[in-house]
Amino acid sequence: MSHRFCRVSASELCALLRPRRWTVVLVTTPCFAPIIWDGTFDSAILDTPFRNTTIGLTVFAIKRYVVFLKVFLETADKCFMVGHKVNYYVFTDQHADVPNVLLQEGWQVVNLEVCNYPCWQGVSMHRMEMISNFSKKCFLHEVDYLVCLDEDMMLSDHLGVEILFSLFGTLHPGFYIADHQTFTYEHCSLSQAHFPRDEGYFYYAGGFFGGSVLQVHRLTKACHQVMMVDHTNHIEAEWHDESHLNKYLLCHKPTKVLSPEYLWDERMLCRPPFLRKLRYVAMPKNHQALWNR
Ligand code: UDP
Ligand code: MN
Repeated sequence: MSHRFCRVSASELCALLRPRRWTVVLVTTPCFAPIIWDGTFDSAILDTPFRNTTIGLTVFAIKRYVVFLKVFLETADKCFMVGHKVNYYVFTDQHADVPNVLLQEGWQVVNLEVCNYPCWQGVSMHRMEMISNFSKKCFLHEVDYLVCLDEDMMLSDHLGVEILFSLFGTLHPGFYIADHQTFTYEHCSLSQAHFPRDEGYFYYAGGFFGGSVLQVHRLTKACHQVMMVDHTNHIEAEWHDESHLNKYLLCHKPTKVLSPEYLWDERMLCRPPFLRKLRYVAMPKNHQALWNR
């Protein structure tokens, strides 16, 4: 008897993965990477194997974005990796304005001097370069994992070791139930971030990714290199570093995926009932005042 296999396209699979009626949530990717939602893990069990793990959190506070830092650090101190050892790496050009936040014993804030760039896209994109450089220079010797976050956000619930794995990305809250055709992958074929049509199952957010230092070093180095190729060719992907992150994660599948609990914007999005926790949420921000953008 012969078996007939039919190849399901990425967009068809996406449609299957996103049922219109959400009674359950998707808990693994088609590559069997777990998708982390409230209820899919038990911190009491997970904390033990990570007891001797040090986690580095990278955050950029360049130019006026330093105003978000106090709330970011204060809320991280309460919610981020509680019970574990954390190094905060604050990349800034505004040392004098970095707030002195009292952190848990043994935790430290390391200020890393970096230059700024003339536009916010420049800052956003050069994060890859800076994380890559510092990974090689110090993170590889200082921490086991890196968690790379946007800074115009605050933590609002437990965010712990359940996210850690060799490489993880976070479902973009604007697209996690969207149709595949609406994902804002890069469609310009000249860009290194170009995304072949009908590929990719998820659209990942630029503001939350991480993994082992080695994997993050590889990711950030690769993304920086291809952004430089684009730059030489006078091309910039529409969603900047996020476009390149998505392309990288197409070719290097994450071993864990974080649900939109891990990145949410209450002002922009209507919270569905299955989103039981909001762990990391956008702060109100005045784009005009920050960048005239
Ligand atoms: N950023 C910064 N200074 C800037 C612009 C951006 O420090 O002038 C950093 C900051 O950490 C911010 C991240 O780059 O969270 C990404 O930029 P933004 O949050 O404005 O992008 P969006 O979330 O609006 O796409
Ligand atoms: Mn942001």
